Amino acid sequence: MLACGFVLGLGAQPANAGGCGFDLRQLQFQGSDLEQSACLLRTVHVGGVVDAAPAKIPDGMRHLVDRPMRVWKDALRKHIALSGLTEKALGGSLDAPLSSVLREDGGRISAHYFVIHDTSWPWLDAQPFPIDTDSQVNDLGFYAHASTAMAHVFVNRLGKTLTTHEFEEPWRATKLENKVIGLHSRGLFLHVELVQPRRRDTNGPAGNDALAPEPGFTTAQYDTLALLYMAASVRAGFGLVPGLHAAIDDGLTGGHDDPQNFQLEEFAAALIRLQTRLSALSTNLVSTDSALAKEPGVR
Ligand SMILES: [Zn+2]
Repeated sequence: MLACGFVLGLGAQPANAGGCGFDLRQLQFQGSDLEQSACLLRTVHVGGVVDAAPAKIPDGMRHLVDRPMRVWKDALRKHIALSGLTEKALGGSLDAPLSSVLREDGGRISAHYFVIHDTSWPWLDAQPFPIDTDSQVNDLGFYAHASTAMAHVFVNRLGKTLTTHEFEEPWRATKLENKVIGLHSRGLFLHVELVQPRRRDTNGPAGNDALAPEPGFTTAQYDTLALLYMAASVRAGFGLVPGLHAAIDDGLTGGHDDPQNFQLEEFAAALIRLQTRLSALSTNLVSTDSALAKEPGVR
């Protein structure tokens, strides 16, 4: 599955692209959804070097990928409202379809991949990293312009979001989509950017942004990322395949280096926290429904 690179077929059209072997006709990577996740979640190192070995998918994520998700919808909707959030802030209404693409054989498929990025911004030159509550770092207004709104949703270090393109809108943000698959990939990938400032490595070339904070992201960011993953997956009807930008572009020339210092275990832990919360709300929903059902005249 790994290190397939380009496998040239007849007519010099690559049949599979990138390190996870994206099939240009079937519009999917090689293997089952879990195997694809293991390839696409490989650790990303400085300079965009991606581990050769597949990621070990933590249990908190393993039992979500490719599993039925609509069962969570009512509880998720309630959780969003109780948290003072809106569905719009999480990529759009839970009732709306996701973006989709048309395969060569005429089959239409809904968005299948949940891509995690870091903004690599603000760039601090050689200044030290500020605290996570820094107002400039957390200013999501920076991403609200046509030239900066390069993903569906942005998540700052406080876990606050800005939806710049709802998940229903086809949008491309990787080299694989833009340079290899082309226009007909629009709609297959959903893109979430986690705000992460970067610094210059003084041993590197001028203007480089090689250094990222450690840890790379805050707990609030992982919690919001989990919420976005669940919201998108509920809309898909199944657990989407998560992936890291650099792992998706691995094997392609000039790929990006994000996200840096992403901790898969932290993301999985956030997914477990969210599922625990949703399970409790589901129980309440069921008991409220039964109570209402027993009450004459109340429906
Ligand atoms: Zn990226």
